[in-house]
Amino acid sequence: MIRRTTNGIVFYQFASLTPYREVLHAVFTRIGGTSRGPYQSLNVGHLIGDDAAAVDANHRRIFQALGINAETVVTARQVHGAQVAIVSTAHWGTIIPATDSLISAERGTVLLLRFADCVPLMLYDPLRHVLALVHVGWRGLFAGVVPHTIATLQQAFGCHPYDILAGIGPAIGPCCYEVGPEVVVKVEQTFGRDSGLLQSQPSGAIHFDLPGAVRRQLQNLGVQHIEDSALCTSCHTDEFFSHRAEHGRTGRFAAILGLRE
Ligand SMILES: [Zn+2]
Repeated sequence: MIRRTTNGIVFYQFASLTPYREVLHAVFTRIGGTSRGPYQSLNVGHLIGDDAAAVDANHRRIFQALGINAETVVTARQVHGAQVAIVSTAHWGTIIPATDSLISAERGTVLLLRFADCVPLMLYDPLRHVLALVHVGWRGLFAGVVPHTIATLQQAFGCHPYDILAGIGPAIGPCCYEVGPEVVVKVEQTFGRDSGLLQSQPSGAIHFDLPGAVRRQLQNLGVQHIEDSALCTSCHTDEFFSHRAEHGRTGRFAAILGLRE
């Protein structure tokens, strides 16, 4: 990914998406906001203990950084599920209930989701001008949010997986993501015993490669163009919020995706 700074706000963009002028996208960091304490500083998570006025101010800052009209933004109440929503101008300014995947093909509609270790996945079909923003944690992964999103793109928009450009943003990496037996069992059931997605540590702990699992699912579905940020949120709490590294007391950074007017 490419690191950029605007008015003190630091964000990343996928090199594979930047050639497409119609695509507006960014994965923001925690740098450049107004929140304090564990939410320092560009937290966009409401309902996690931060000051509401600071969170509102942070939203204004990220919208300003990209030149977005706040009224055009559609977000979702993320629940680690597999629900997919196709959104349009009718949804501007609303929060889609219980959804972790937003799809849009309408110019001027901006999608926003929030992250702190889960995978921000961006999908864009440059032939059919449709895009998706997906929140993928381990529960959503095994619930099938990635295949549900690809299937919706195919059925509703006629997309072919081999045309789709995928970007895997900053998320907790295999270096840091220790998991328990409930996840190990799911990984072995879904990807087989020799997937390489589970790594035994000298301590006896088992680490899971969540971004690698997202990539594997995409490849199994026929998606060929995948850019992986290889940025670990837990290793880089100077730039990103990490639920795991900060023991649950932390903020959320924003990922934004839309088609320009
Ligand atoms: Zn790490």
